[in-house]
Amino acid sequence: MSTTTRTTRSRPSRSPWGRWAAVLAVATASLGACSGDQGVKSAEALRVVTTVSPLTSIVANVAGPEVTVTGLVPEGVNSHTFEPPPSAARALAEADIVFVNGLGLEDPTEDLARANLSEGAEVVKLGDRILPESDWIFDFSFPKEGGKPNPHLWTNPPMVRAYARVVRDALVAHDPDHAATYRANHDAFVKRVDALDQAMRTATASIAPDQRTLLTYHDAYAYFADHYGWTVVGAIQPSDFTEPSPREVAELIDQVRKYQVKAIFGSEVFPSPVLERISDETGATYVDDLRDDDLPGAPGDPEHSWLGLMRLNYVTMVEAFGGDAASLRSLDVTDVVTDRSTYPQ
Ligand SMILES: [Zn+2]
Repeated sequence: MSTTTRTTRSRPSRSPWGRWAAVLAVATASLGACSGDQGVKSAEALRVVTTVSPLTSIVANVAGPEVTVTGLVPEGVNSHTFEPPPSAARALAEADIVFVNGLGLEDPTEDLARANLSEGAEVVKLGDRILPESDWIFDFSFPKEGGKPNPHLWTNPPMVRAYARVVRDALVAHDPDHAATYRANHDAFVKRVDALDQAMRTATASIAPDQRTLLTYHDAYAYFADHYGWTVVGAIQPSDFTEPSPREVAELIDQVRKYQVKAIFGSEVFPSPVLERISDETGATYVDDLRDDDLPGAPGDPEHSWLGLMRLNYVTMVEAFGGDAASLRSLDVTDVVTDRSTYPQ
């Protein structure tokens, strides 16, 4: 459906309680009256579009249930090669703010957003906002010659703290009437981010520094490793997201032996027989359930959140190395607000 005739900010009231309500609102608004039945808040409710599910969860926590938050990248899909369907253009055209990770992760979505944005709307590139180019990390799967740094800032809590600040400021700028709500949500969320960070520091301390060697299939822990004092000895997935060559696998096996890596990690989104082979040949334990952008459980479940995702990953890592993850297990990882976002599956 064409959206070219839409007038900026004179949108119909948008209830957060379901699509049917929005359809109804469109019908009543077309009669030319704003009845105010939904209250002042929903008449002005912001529309926000995000990309991968961890970002959707972070944004949802700061925005709260009054803001319509729509994620575009289905969970369990390779976000690095995701091409938005033409139908995403409509959500992008109706958005006040489009939050993307940036750092080259979602270039096709960014292009579609810029081609469809309405007047006054904005694309906010979270990673680019918080990380100066001098701090970009290039590595195995994200080599410098490719020009795109490792974009996985959201696996590192201090960077998510900074993401939340940028989200808060953008929401306040677009909707100053609800600034107090966004600030309160932000402050509550950041407390949980800090608690996760502290718990991971405690858990990491239970593993000797020379044992903290990380070999993952998908290269999602570069900034995390810097922050907590882990060494990433390799990533298996090449920069084109195909399978590694036999020679590359042989080199990885040498790395695992050299660093006496105790555990290697696969990812649910990128199943690969290569890890099993490396595990068989080196004796390293193969753990196959790290996730970088697929939240645990289903939308609406208490652990279906960025906090739940990171807790799951950190517990998995720490326990695979024989460490004590009690500090992580006892954390409250539920959202600070009700998350009514759209998470495509
Ligand atoms: Zn990734």
